[in-house]
Amino acid sequence: MKERYEFAGIEEKWQKKWAVEDIYRVPDSSSRPKYYCLEMFPYPSGKLHMGHVRNYSIGDVLARFLTMRGYSVLHPMGWDAFGLPAENAAIKHGNIHPAVWTYDNINAMRAQLKQLGISYDWNREIATCHPGYYRWTQWLFLQLYKHGLAYKKEAAVNWCPSCATVLANEQVKEGSCERCSSTVEKRELNQWFFRITKYADRLLDDLKLLEGWPEKVKIMQENWIGRSEGAEINFPVEGEDDVMTVFTTRPDTIFGVTYMILAPEHPLVEKLIQGRPEAAEIRDFVKKVRSLSELDRTSTETEKIGLFTGAYCVNPLNGERVPILVANYVLLEYGTGCVMGVPAHDQRDFEFARKYNLPIRIVIQPEGEALDPDTMKEAYSGEGLMVNSGKFNGLPKKEGIRSVIDYCEEKGIGKGVVNFRLRDWLISRQRYWGAPIPMIYCDKCGIVPVPESDLPVELPLDVEFKNTGRNPLADHPSFVKTACPQCGGPGHRETDTMDTFMCSSFYYYRYTSPRDGDHVWDDEKVRHWLPVDQYIGGVEHAILHLLYSRFFTKFLNDIGLVPNVEPFTRLLTQGMVLKDGSKMSKSKGNVVSPEDIVATYGADTARMFILFAAPPERDLEWSDQGVEGCYRFLNRVWRLVAPLAGKLEAGSPPDTGKLVGVDREMHRLTHGTIKKVTEDIGGRFNFNTAVSAIMEMVNGLYQYREVPETDRDPAVLNEAVETLLILLAPFAPHVTEELWQGIGRSGSVHQQPWPEYSREAVAEDEVTIVVQLNGKIKDRILVPADITPEGMKELVLSQPSVREMLEGKNVVKVIPVPGKLVNIVVK
Ligand SMILES: [Zn+2]
Ligand SMILES: [Zn+2]
Repeated sequence: MKERYEFAGIEEKWQKKWAVEDIYRVPDSSSRPKYYCLEMFPYPSGKLHMGHVRNYSIGDVLARFLTMRGYSVLHPMGWDAFGLPAENAAIKHGNIHPAVWTYDNINAMRAQLKQLGISYDWNREIATCHPGYYRWTQWLFLQLYKHGLAYKKEAAVNWCPSCATVLANEQVKEGSCERCSSTVEKRELNQWFFRITKYADRLLDDLKLLEGWPEKVKIMQENWIGRSEGAEINFPVEGEDDVMTVFTTRPDTIFGVTYMILAPEHPLVEKLIQGRPEAAEIRDFVKKVRSLSELDRTSTETEKIGLFTGAYCVNPLNGERVPILVANYVLLEYGTGCVMGVPAHDQRDFEFARKYNLPIRIVIQPEGEALDPDTMKEAYSGEGLMVNSGKFNGLPKKEGIRSVIDYCEEKGIGKGVVNFRLRDWLISRQRYWGAPIPMIYCDKCGIVPVPESDLPVELPLDVEFKNTGRNPLADHPSFVKTACPQCGGPGHRETDTMDTFMCSSFYYYRYTSPRDGDHVWDDEKVRHWLPVDQYIGGVEHAILHLLYSRFFTKFLNDIGLVPNVEPFTRLLTQGMVLKDGSKMSKSKGNVVSPEDIVATYGADTARMFILFAAPPERDLEWSDQGVEGCYRFLNRVWRLVAPLAGKLEAGSPPDTGKLVGVDREMHRLTHGTIKKVTEDIGGRFNFNTAVSAIMEMVNGLYQYREVPETDRDPAVLNEAVETLLILLAPFAPHVTEELWQGIGRSGSVHQQPWPEYSREAVAEDEVTIVVQLNGKIKDRILVPADITPEGMKELVLSQPSVREMLEGKNVVKVIPVPGKLVNIVVK
């Protein structure tokens, strides 16, 4: 073997060989237990970044480890290939079609992934922009439609002026577009929605099935779904037939309502103010508020402004007149667009009431404390008994809530309801590069679904990209014009395409049957492989992708297409890759390119560094010295093993019981390392400490190699070297494969069984125990690991240091604690 570690030649050679021999192909049936290891598939932007390298290296170690542990591991890769950047590139450069741009990028990134030596079964590769894939995206849309879960409605929706499309609520972050950070506007548009709210309860309840998910992700989903229990209560408007319906989680405070607020855009506002002196001022106010973003309106920093409409409603429980106001912080989209003001028991209402001198009335009195509306400094929202509440006086908060709801239901003035923050998923996008929504509009028949046999509705490729903000599909007459499938008359196609989160909500099922042209997937294969055992990706998908995938899975389970109710049994959210303390980004100029690192040090070093530098969930700080260190380590492994080529006899492992001295030590180190690495990878994904253990083993092996050949057991050395290469293989697949072959072993190192450690080998010969005098530590001594308590006592008392210490003292008791200490009690 060569003296020097020449990574470039080695890596290229093995990548070719693995591809030719197709060693990562996984069969659909096997006597081995299955394991589905999945990393979130990337958007084909053109180049891998370090975050990708981290994501895929974590998955690859796991997939390789489990394969060696005897599992049949499904480890596929594909492309989340529809989306805006491709179209924006086409608009900007004019001459690149989004399809060409996308497939070029896919080719470039696939080559990069192969360069990293990731063990994907490339036979299963999918791209969501391929008609063979999006045909099934459309087919699933039709299934949702058939089951009443896809519907079209006019609604005020989030519009990003820069992306020229609508966005789902989940894609709006603090009032801004998640993609481009532009301020999101509201527009009234006729759009397609998925009825995800129908699954709100199950999406919430089933979070408790997800024991293998990080707590923080579950909490984020729980908050996003936002279940609250309460009541809807109707307040009749004085002098009108209308009622104002409010949702409240605190029906027990209903006697404390001193004002009512409508959202400025509430349809009732105009009716209430007509002909009143306040009308002009309120119309002005409404106009001003409507031009503000949702964020500006609801931010805690925004001053809360309200105006009295001049109208009153009636509290249905006590018959009191309640003034009706409009205020900037109440939104139409949430709840009923109408809130009751209970200033004594809600902090926001309290501040508002103080500002406008509205009355404050205590209706919950904490025990042993008297609240005074004139002097209280903040609202009281704790436990207490109902007061000033007629026949409900004296009821504690919880019972009060129940009793008021019962009363309202009995009198027909309200009802108990469960409210969710979750809204239906808006999936129409006014852009070209997406899966066309398979719907046809006919003047006679209305909305008609495209027959399943006509799928896919193919995206025409001959479109013009202009910077007009108009969807080019709408300007493509031969796409738009079609016959109505029902009556044969003239129809026109829907020109909106689907949110790309639709494409990624089911891709992990399609990997089981990537080329199936007759079915969305093969029933038997899905039953074999699903659910995904381990999913790995960034925490930024905690709500969007993960919530949508869970919704899809529940729907697919309901219609019998998948056996599982949750898609991902375990989830690992890896931390970010930082440099100089912040996330790598072009704008900060702190990007380290994976290509450069691979060219300078090789893929094995890149992978080692990224796995060694931090535990997977934590952020990882890039360190050039750290990369150098991993490179030096692989060189050290090379210089250790390469000279042994031709000198290591393959054979049976050494007999643990017969080993002594340095052989016993080396053997123990080998098995101790197997134990540590196995537990670190398999149990807790502590790849960094696993690598540390392998590094320690290499140090030990260097020392052992220096022992004259006549004084060491060749079987021990052989076992140690083979074990080292196998344990290191998931981290550094190329160099280990080269050395494995170099020392004359047959087959791929990646297809070797993972070694089991021997308990006997790792058993310690001696342990250190503490000697105490009256409970104070005085000394530490080595004792045989299997010593009896009686033997411990004797051994300790015979130590010269102990005898000296006890001179002239009266020993009352000697207490041995096996494996730990001996305490000598003296007077
Ligand atoms: Zn945008
Ligand atoms: Zn028709």
